[in-house]
Amino acid sequence: MALDTRAVHAGRDDLVDLGVHAVPLDFSTTYPARDSAAEAARLDTFATGEMDGGLPIYSRVSNPTVERFESAIAELEGCQTAVAFASGMAALSACLLASVVQGKPHVVAVRPLYGTTDHLLESGLLGTFVTWAAADEVASAIRPDTGLVVVESPANPTLTEVDIAAVTEAAGPVPVLVDNTFATPVLQRPVEHGARITMHSATKFLGGHGDVMGGVIACDEEYARVLRQLRFVTGGVLHPMAGYLLLRGLSTLPVRIRAASATAAELARRLADHPKVERVHYPRIGGALVSIEVTGDPCAVVSEVRVITPAVSLGSVDSLIQHPGSLTHRIMPPDAREDAGISEQLLRLSIGLEDVEDLWQDLDQALVKA
Ligand SMILES: *Cc1c(COP(=O)(O)O)cnc(C)c1O
Repeated sequence: MALDTRAVHAGRDDLVDLGVHAVPLDFSTTYPARDSAAEAARLDTFATGEMDGGLPIYSRVSNPTVERFESAIAELEGCQTAVAFASGMAALSACLLASVVQGKPHVVAVRPLYGTTDHLLESGLLGTFVTWAAADEVASAIRPDTGLVVVESPANPTLTEVDIAAVTEAAGPVPVLVDNTFATPVLQRPVEHGARITMHSATKFLGGHGDVMGGVIACDEEYARVLRQLRFVTGGVLHPMAGYLLLRGLSTLPVRIRAASATAAELARRLADHPKVERVHYPRIGGALVSIEVTGDPCAVVSEVRVITPAVSLGSVDSLIQHPGSLTHRIMPPDAREDAGISEQLLRLSIGLEDVEDLWQDLDQALVKA
């Protein structure tokens, strides 16, 4: 079936048999059971990261509402399974820890990346150490202790596209993690290009309304077991309410992405001719994000917009604008920021569902004033 159909029904296929229309939201932290011996056997299974499909035991191990979201995103990404976390950074942290515990703490990463991802890799706070490589230098950067290759495409905030198939081929047996937050499975499915691990900050397009934080890794069952073990001990679980909202968000994801992409592409076209705009970045695969380099003061543009929301984050129904040099990518070393093409003049726009003419007028007046 088509992605649009599965986006509405994935994770909900049993609702008719249950006799309910809305997804059941289960807030239990613990689940009563009289047979301790049976529970003991199940816990032994869970300790390996394997799920047995039975009743839940404790909500740090699993939650039925969250599992619905996990199975839905796995299906949309074309992966065997998915493991949800409290945020995108919790999801990424689990992958880095998975490399560390497997004795392969070296990470090869391609800049630019989301600012906090860059910071986590650069700082080595979780015991990893990074080699920054250009996309076509990945093969030579890999060592015997390399446990992970990390890329983002389109990348934040320059919207640079990485050839995922070329990177996975260069990586050989080393798992490649693709942060697919910007593209979503509507525009790109990294697993189809050979990536083993697809990551999302679900906080962005998957939720889609700026009111829920979450992260998710879609992958194969073998890798998921390691992630579940790590989630069980570190406790970075997704709240059931968040799982509910994210599943609801998935049902409108294709419609939202297509509508926002059409508006973003039109704005990108018009911005290219604007006298206050020096350069427009818009990826070939499309999407809701547009970045521009302005001739005037970028921060003044942010303060002058009236329809567009001046805020970090992205992927909401409302359009957002921010200055990466001041906000999302502040935490990067300034020379690395420059090397990654993140100029001080750069502004990142996340286009929402407003009318294109209203957005254009708002942008135009802000650019002219700045
Ligand atoms: C926001 C974001 C993250 C981090 O996700 P959180 O949910 O904020 O923890 C990671 N990668 C990308 C591309 C993002 O936009």
